[in-house]
Amino acid sequence: MSNTIGKKEIIAMIVGAVEKINANHQMLSQLDSATGDGDHGTTMLRSMKAVSETIESSTDTAVKDMLYNIGWAIMSADGGSTGPLLGSFFMGMSESVSDTGMDCGAVAEMIAAGINKMHKQSRAQIGDKTMMDAMLPAMETLNNADKTGSISEALASAAKAAADGAEATTEMTAKFGRARNLGDRVLGHRDPGAVSISLIFKGFCEGLDS
Ligand SMILES: [Mg+2]
Repeated sequence: MSNTIGKKEIIAMIVGAVEKINANHQMLSQLDSATGDGDHGTTMLRSMKAVSETIESSTDTAVKDMLYNIGWAIMSADGGSTGPLLGSFFMGMSESVSDTGMDCGAVAEMIAAGINKMHKQSRAQIGDKTMMDAMLPAMETLNNADKTGSISEALASAAKAAADGAEATTEMTAKFGRARNLGDRVLGHRDPGAVSISLIFKGFCEGLDS
């Protein structure tokens, strides 16, 4: 695979993420029944449908506008508490993306721009049992990746960091959202939002490699 990517590969990454969420929505709702209202898988499905529809109508759209439109579509799709945050992730990425010639450093910057935009809204830190427990380790891994190295390998490392971060939420109590009121009862369960993010990163990898 070439060492730079563009719109076509970014679409492949996002389609990979959509497929990964769609294949795991029941597990996500099961996780949410332990720590919330059990609708996380369903709301993520609704968000992913909005993503797919936006990609389908983006044949002649610059990748920057496509990512912005995806963010907007997610925010408009009633994605529960996750929707606005996930939407801001895509909108943030739209601010740092090119149609061609993105090397590993540029891809890392794009994803970091998305995570930073999301983090401004979320304000959660590592240890708060939220999506940021998967997002922030993924960003750190990408920031440390070889700027001219393999994008595929960097994304695989980021996906591993996100999965490890999601796994670590098992031992956390929640400081945000509904789960905050459950105290120690959420111990022993992964945060569904963090698991969604780890699936999205895994999907990015699989989509790029497909
Ligand atoms: Mg819920």
